[in-house]
Amino acid sequence: MNDFILRIGIYTRPEIRVRFHGPYRGQGQLLEGAQCLKSAALYEPAADDAYFELEQVTIGVNFHWQRNENQCFKGALELVAAPEGGWIAVNRVPLEVYLTSVISSEMSAESDMELLKAHAVISRSWAMYQLFPTYPPQAVPDATDSRLIRWYDREGHQLFDLCADDHCQRYQGITRQTNPQVEEAIEATRGMVLAYDNRLCDARFYKCCGGATEAYESAWDDTPHPYLRRVDDTRTPVAGDLRDEATASRFIRQAPEACCNTRDHRILSQVLNHYDQETADFYRWQVRYTQAQLSALVARRSGIDFGEIQDLIPLKRGVSGRIIELRIVGSRRSLVVGKELEIRKWLSESHLYSSAFVVDRDATDFILRGAGWGHGVGLCQIGAAVMAAEGAGYRQILQHYYPGTQLCPLSTLIPDTL
Ligand SMILES: [Zn+2]
Ligand SMILES: [Zn+2]
Repeated sequence: MNDFILRIGIYTRPEIRVRFHGPYRGQGQLLEGAQCLKSAALYEPAADDAYFELEQVTIGVNFHWQRNENQCFKGALELVAAPEGGWIAVNRVPLEVYLTSVISSEMSAESDMELLKAHAVISRSWAMYQLFPTYPPQAVPDATDSRLIRWYDREGHQLFDLCADDHCQRYQGITRQTNPQVEEAIEATRGMVLAYDNRLCDARFYKCCGGATEAYESAWDDTPHPYLRRVDDTRTPVAGDLRDEATASRFIRQAPEACCNTRDHRILSQVLNHYDQETADFYRWQVRYTQAQLSALVARRSGIDFGEIQDLIPLKRGVSGRIIELRIVGSRRSLVVGKELEIRKWLSESHLYSSAFVVDRDATDFILRGAGWGHGVGLCQIGAAVMAAEGAGYRQILQHYYPGTQLCPLSTLIPDTL
């Protein structure tokens, strides 16, 4: 099971232009050097150090730094016919090699070893959960004239296991040097995943919880996951139930001491890839809109004409204080919107940091005062980095953010989930 092979879809092209560095065997022959392939086949390395190079892979799709570059991969190359025509280049790669690449590009080389080990376990669990989900989604989104409750989960792939872009996890093969610290963390946790009740966990994570973590069903479908529930990240437990409006409002307006309440540059740069361009104001943040700005923004982002926006009223909050149903009151119409991501999309040009916010008015301006960055479900990356810096082991970090889970070998779980 340690050699579980993943099939990663890299891209689709009318023909696949590849350079084999070292011998590859496919369609009954040995190939080396530049090739132009256009038929369904599997090409396997015929030497230990052989790898292949794909031309012009687009990286950072839809980001301002989108560009094309050649990328190199270990393992086998498979060509799969794409339904829209052309060929999908699929890299068959051992799980542990895939993880080394993914975590090296996501985490800084200076990250603490225990943080890297925690990440190795959750990335491994996440990847395998995509192939073997144990809690299939049950509820369907709910849309009427007065309510629009919607969420977004990753749609699975049909022709391969995972894609190489941010939709799944960014994977660039062996194009960049892997980080030796990451290799050590992967090796130290080899084959280990998170399990709850002997079932593989859906190990979600995000940047900063804001003081308390959220339950799964506040962000996605209504199936509770017992290990994805509220955990206090504050130094002293949060008093009260943050689903209660008054309690949530008090909590968000304060900035209690918490694992993720830090401005330590060394810690933040471990988790935030482009930290130097980011703001450190995510534990508690603030956004101000004039009424005209907010009305235009919501109209553009929702595609709904509310007229002049007159009020934003939180109707339902999750266990971390994140709003999961918000009433938007306009001069032309009112609507209840949810869940957390839809609210964040409508109230910002990109995404609001989180839906844990309170709304204040200053004359006709709207001021959103908020807490945390991301959906808040599962591991808080900044909190985990702080825990590691303070000497916590990766088991302790995982136990904190995924209560009631155990670390266990993948090989003991997968037969039961098949
Ligand atoms: Zn994908
Ligand atoms: Zn946190």
